[in-house]
Amino acid sequence: KKPVIAIDGFSSTGKSSISKIIAEKLGIVHLDTGALYRGITWFALQNCLNEDQTINLEQLFDSFSLIELEFKNDNGELVLFLNHINISKEIRSNEVSDNVSLIAKQKEVRDFLLQSQRNLAEKGGIIMDGRDIGTVVLPNADFKFFLTASIEERTKRRYQELLSLGIEADEKQVKQNLVARDKIDSEREIAPLKRAEDAIVIDNTMLTKKETIESILTHLKN
Ligand code: C5P
Repeated sequence: KKPVIAIDGFSSTGKSSISKIIAEKLGIVHLDTGALYRGITWFALQNCLNEDQTINLEQLFDSFSLIELEFKNDNGELVLFLNHINISKEIRSNEVSDNVSLIAKQKEVRDFLLQSQRNLAEKGGIIMDGRDIGTVVLPNADFKFFLTASIEERTKRRYQELLSLGIEADEKQVKQNLVARDKIDSEREIAPLKRAEDAIVIDNTMLTKKETIESILTHLKN
């Protein structure tokens, strides 16, 4: 049976891009669970705003039956569709990044997304990245990794990523967003961002993406 691999860690430690390459190498599926929380946040920003432009959580919870999130295979890459619309670029916007952790800390939201994440791993052959994969979503994963890196390095990486997506960015704001999200994600009551006891920790501040991948692949062979 092909392995089930959980990759958790702080924002912008390269979890998703690294997981994607490992999935290709092993011939397994990659699921970026952060995209699901971003997708719900984007839906809320479009459809569930109060008059003062803040998100109306009650309205969002009442709208779950209207939300269909689906990953479609686009040339080997899983792309997120919300109600049949490709929102893979929209979910990277600053507006979504600024609101996603407030959405992700809601029990209703996490309950709504939990089972579908677990179902995807049932048959094995998947690498899932997020914040609570090794601790909550897939506690029995065959391999668990926890990625971390310095805030300066992570800021640089996210800034470059945004530029490459054609999204305007300011390094100071990028850093503030990472710090704020990590804080909310780590301090929330339900499924907080934390290392599973049996996860292998990789600090990749000084490692290239390729070196981080090599390190993970070495552990997978053992
Ligand atoms: O991975 P990414 O940075 O795109 O995740 C965006 C946000 O989604 C995180 O800051 C966190 O609030 C939330 N998230 C989560 N649990 C996961 C994945 C992401 O709470 N498994």
